[in-house]
Amino acid sequence: MFYFSKSKYCDFRQCPKIPWLKKYKPEEYVIDAATQAKFTTGNEVGDLAMGLFGEFVEVTAFKPDGGLDLNKMKQLTRQALAEGRENICEASFDYQGLYCAVDILRKNGDGYDIYEVKSSTSPHNYVYIIDTSYQRYVLEKCGVKVKGVFLVTIDTSYVFDGTLDLNKFFKITEVTPLVEEEIKTVEENLRAAEKVMASASEPAVGLSESCNSPYPCAFFGYCTRGIPSPSVFDLYGMHFKQALELYERGIVSLQDVWNDGKCLEGGKSQGRLRRRQVEYAVEDRGTYVDKTGVEEFLKTLTYPLYFLDFETIQLAVPRYVGTRPYQQLPVQYSLHILKADGTLEHREFLGRPEEDPRRALAERLVSDIPDDVCVLAYNKSFECSRIKELAEAFPDLSEHLLKMRENVKDLIDPFQKGYYYNRNMGGSFSIKSVLPAVYPDDPALNYHNLEGVHNGSEAMELFPRLKDMPSDERAKAEYDLLKYCELDTYALVKLYEELRRVSDKS
Ligand code: SF4
Repeated sequence: MFYFSKSKYCDFRQCPKIPWLKKYKPEEYVIDAATQAKFTTGNEVGDLAMGLFGEFVEVTAFKPDGGLDLNKMKQLTRQALAEGRENICEASFDYQGLYCAVDILRKNGDGYDIYEVKSSTSPHNYVYIIDTSYQRYVLEKCGVKVKGVFLVTIDTSYVFDGTLDLNKFFKITEVTPLVEEEIKTVEENLRAAEKVMASASEPAVGLSESCNSPYPCAFFGYCTRGIPSPSVFDLYGMHFKQALELYERGIVSLQDVWNDGKCLEGGKSQGRLRRRQVEYAVEDRGTYVDKTGVEEFLKTLTYPLYFLDFETIQLAVPRYVGTRPYQQLPVQYSLHILKADGTLEHREFLGRPEEDPRRALAERLVSDIPDDVCVLAYNKSFECSRIKELAEAFPDLSEHLLKMRENVKDLIDPFQKGYYYNRNMGGSFSIKSVLPAVYPDDPALNYHNLEGVHNGSEAMELFPRLKDMPSDERAKAEYDLLKYCELDTYALVKLYEELRRVSDKS
């Protein structure tokens, strides 16, 4: 018997090889912290949406081992349908091995409407139509009369006033006509999927736009294992589609790129940086320094230097009054202060998730950073946007905050403008690429050596959970958050020192 679920069906529609690899080579599936956080958010939003239409029955059931008890869920669904329940959440169906659970099945006259809940802010994603078409197909095969299909997404214009209003938090979009078109393809796709899944041979599918759309594929590392690294997919400023075109023309390694030459063209600055990336990789060169450029940048800075970095959270379901879904909320910062005599001081702030951390953070920020000093951030638009939002939220602090914002300089500039390049940066100027390229052997500057939090996504996921932790676990998590953020600004100090070093060299 052929067993399939809606997530496998959606995977199959992205690329036939995905469900096959998940079944036969699951160890190759690489999921990052940001994707995992999206799944967690999806579950939270799904739970919340159950109450969207008032009273409901939820048929979720678990086996003793913690897995979903699908048989029980199907039986409870049949019971709820027989009782004529208005709203059935996780309504579960199975047609000859084709399984699906509907987020909300809502009675509509002599039939039902399907409501699919997404933690996304936009209904405009064709995967949702593929997903709901499969659901409708299974339900109709099970004898359910489906009248309409709707997507439930999050409205980012909603402002939380202390009581969550589900009718304003969610927005509902009807997609019945799109589903009516797409459903015509379901049967044929399922026949093709059955063949693929029954075969023990890996499907012969090459790289395509599906590897990056609608989502970056978790098997990309596996499927590109045979190609040289770095490759066209690592070129600076190159869109996936452009890289794919080169790949299909047989231009794969950076040596191929160098030989072709044409693909090094681009915008003036982009083309120059891409050419340097390829040249330094192919010729195995070390570090490039444009001393004049570095000096010009350093001349714009004045001591004492304030190296600043924020950590933020983006809650799908707003928790603090006056905030919106997915609003970037600064909850933590690290600040290193470097004086002209070389003295280095560290300050830091970490909010408490039990209350809106922004007011306390803004007060500490204005007390830690005078409004007339030179502030350095890495990719400053992020820090500047957060400071501006704090100024808007707290008018009594806005004058100081806005002056501070005007004084922010961007430490990414000398790297992104090509004044300093090291081949180990590859095609990225993110701090996570630049730092290990400049300081490859310093364990104190290695994010992998941190104990608990290694990147912004992990910090973002951890902070909201602090409130539910026992005190010893919370103390450890807070320590990890502080250490991670501290390394972010210490890294900036070290990059600044490196720029100084190369500019001082005669
Ligand atoms: S990386 Fe591309 S080819 Fe490989 S499974 Fe994913 S989508 Fe398919």
